[in-house]
Amino acid sequence: MSHKIQVIIIYRLTLGFIFSILVQFIIDMNNVKASSSLNGSDPVFTLSVISKLSGVPISSIRQYIDRGLIVPYKKDSSRHLFSKVDVLRLKYINNLLTEKGLNIAGIRASMALIPCWAIRLCSTKDRHQCDAYHSSSDPCWEASEKGRECKNKDCRECGVYRFLETEKDIKSLLKTLI
Ligand code: SF4
Repeated sequence: MSHKIQVIIIYRLTLGFIFSILVQFIIDMNNVKASSSLNGSDPVFTLSVISKLSGVPISSIRQYIDRGLIVPYKKDSSRHLFSKVDVLRLKYINNLLTEKGLNIAGIRASMALIPCWAIRLCSTKDRHQCDAYHSSSDPCWEASEKGRECKNKDCRECGVYRFLETEKDIKSLLKTLI
């Protein structure tokens, strides 16, 4: 292959690469712009966008999903979408890890302390039939057997999962309840 043809091939490959980055950038920016008029729980951000917005690396976000700290919207089996609430949650989780010295198990346990039954006003009978009421290590949205109040509820829409929209941390949330 002549040198000239090699140069042309490299030139075209480079152009194609730059073009694909540009297209992805425009899509990401449109997502961010559109988000200003959206509900806090609307799933609009891709993994790469939410990583930029929260400052949390993609690999860490995947780990938080695996450990149940973040509940992404599943568009299909391989594609996750995230909301503004998830941005808040990621920043909060990152702060607990880097500034407060907690590990992931500790963060899960702290989220398990949120008295979801008081927020959702579950009856005494309902709460006793719900795993979330009894577990001290798993957040309520990870409960295997949920009470009647939560059975068909999308946790991403729930005030428990979204508490950071109005409160700065779990202690502030508890003060509104107790
Ligand atoms: S709907 Fe989900 S997040 Fe809300 S209290 Fe029930 S289990 Fe928890």
